[in-house]
Amino acid sequence: MTNRIIYKQIKYFVITILLIGVTPIFYLWGQYQTELNAIQFQRESAAKHQLNFSQKEVYFITSELSTSLKLLSDNRVLLEFIQDPSFKNRSLLESIWALTATNYSYISQIRFIGVDGKEISRINKEENGIEIVPISELQDKSYRDYFIYAQTLKADTLGFFGIDLEVENGKVVTPLQPSLRIFTPVEIDSDRKGYLVFNLDVYEIVAQVEASLEVGYQLDFVNEEGYYLTSQDKQKTLGHLITERDIHNVLIETPELWQKMKTQNAGEFADKQSFYSFVKVTFGGDFDSNSLYLILRSENNLATANLDHELTFIIYEAILTVLFVTFISILIARYIAKHRTTSLESQLALAALNGMSAIVITDKNNRIIKVNEEFTRLSGWTEEEVIGQSPSMFQSGVHNKNFYSAMWKTIQSEGLWEGEVTNKRKDGSLLTEILRIQAICNNDGKREYFIASFVDITERKGLENRLRELSEKDPLTQCWNRRKFEREFSDIIANDSFMKGIESSCLAIIDIDYFKQINDKYGHDVGDKVITEVARMLGSESRRSDFVARIGGEEFAVILPNTQLQEAEIILNRLRVAVSLNDHIKVTISAGITDICNSREASYKRADLALYESKASGRNQIYCFSSDEMMTQIA
Ligand code: GH3
Ligand code: MG
Ligand code: MG
Repeated sequence: MTNRIIYKQIKYFVITILLIGVTPIFYLWGQYQTELNAIQFQRESAAKHQLNFSQKEVYFITSELSTSLKLLSDNRVLLEFIQDPSFKNRSLLESIWALTATNYSYISQIRFIGVDGKEISRINKEENGIEIVPISELQDKSYRDYFIYAQTLKADTLGFFGIDLEVENGKVVTPLQPSLRIFTPVEIDSDRKGYLVFNLDVYEIVAQVEASLEVGYQLDFVNEEGYYLTSQDKQKTLGHLITERDIHNVLIETPELWQKMKTQNAGEFADKQSFYSFVKVTFGGDFDSNSLYLILRSENNLATANLDHELTFIIYEAILTVLFVTFISILIARYIAKHRTTSLESQLALAALNGMSAIVITDKNNRIIKVNEEFTRLSGWTEEEVIGQSPSMFQSGVHNKNFYSAMWKTIQSEGLWEGEVTNKRKDGSLLTEILRIQAICNNDGKREYFIASFVDITERKGLENRLRELSEKDPLTQCWNRRKFEREFSDIIANDSFMKGIESSCLAIIDIDYFKQINDKYGHDVGDKVITEVARMLGSESRRSDFVARIGGEEFAVILPNTQLQEAEIILNRLRVAVSLNDHIKVTISAGITDICNSREASYKRADLALYESKASGRNQIYCFSSDEMMTQIA
């Protein structure tokens, strides 16, 4: 039962939570998504903004550099040095270069390389200042790819040679130094004299660009092949130059991003870990060069992202809603389950109440609190008339006190009593019923209610009684028949008090005198009438407690309970006289009487002998034969 209730509660809980929980959860989910999109949008635009800023910074640096490069290449000091490479001119040139290099943190070298590829003049920026490279240490760069590329440049154009590793005297400088060069041809009267070259410190440029970045963003420079030129993780860079690093390529690492980068100049891309925003930077204008990509990357994890208030509020709201809906659902589920059960139980109880049986419900003090319609129909009492009363009001007097106390004893000990009871209706008539009384206990085992249900068997009982009477009555005279006589006679002998000799009863056997003659004279029918009339007289003239039966053709027996022999003789004589005085029938009777002893055969025999004596003494006689007398005679 408990399990069933729990199961039901769970069922109702699930249904309720689905019914009342769905709308707010969907609403909050929608809100959450909207807010998430807003945040995403905000992040995208912030990233775009950042990238834009970085791009501008790159353009700004390049334009600054190109301006400086142009200014220096057209500078009179350089031209004079070319025409007259005196010590003085060289010193002058070197000091202007030193000034420029100091001004721009990302310029790491300034050189003038002759048309044959040999360095003519050069300054290096070191950590502790500017180093002017002695003429003896100047190198031949004619074999370097950037020099070969420089030779292809037209006058007044700027060359840009992608990020490369620094090589000095034919050897790669370690630790690895990615380097970027910009250069321009220097001509006097259209005669090419050489090339002015800026070596740029990539890390310094990146540091300057990154200085404007907000926390949480990382900026990568990627070349047109997808290799990292710079990145926060330096081990990833320059895969196109360093074989061990060639797996670090956007195409390999994030192919979808690369796909996008190939088709559009700027855009966004997000995967599970990161959000990317990219832009293609092309150095147009005076630069005769290629382009590179800036990729701005940030973590795409909302948990670690700085959630805004709105989103946090929605999450709190959702948690509260879930808690509230759960709580309400539990309450509703419990209520429905209980209500359903009780309503089912009350339906069952109602069905039972309106069933075939009459029902009387009493409280623990045995006061009526409820009866059903069947009860009213059978007993005639309405509910208003019996509420608050004790069921003893229905007692008919048929049963004695002992009967009721035994009934209550059984109910108290076993909680149930069943049996046949005769009560009385409102109109006083008897109502025989099969009654079942059941005690209903509360949780503590105390009797709280009593339910009495009964069905009416009055009619059945009446029929039964009638059938029994029919089988025990003599059809001609309506006296008891022989069978009933035998039973009654046995009962008298079996009776306790009789056995103990406290009381004595008598038996008389009566026979009509010369009856054959009546039959012979007047016919059998008249004989029957005589028998009937004698029977009637015996019934009416005997006492109420006496038992009269026809035990043979014209023989009757009378049992006289609690009667002494002398008294019986008086009664029998009264009967005898009454018959003899009857004018309608001219007959007399003879009888033999005895006191009943504990043997039925002996008692019967004595009465029979006494009758014989009456006949023998001339008929119309009563003869007594007591048990004592018999003993004497036998003795
Ligand atoms: P006694 O004085 O010695 O009793 O003489 P009796 O003629 O009465 O003799 P007994 O009692 O032996 O006779 C009984 C007769 O009663 C015998 C039978 O013909 C008659 N009889 C028995 N039953 C019936 C009956 O139901 N109806 C009628 N009409 N006669 C009956
Ligand atoms: Mg006879
Ligand atoms: Mg007779």
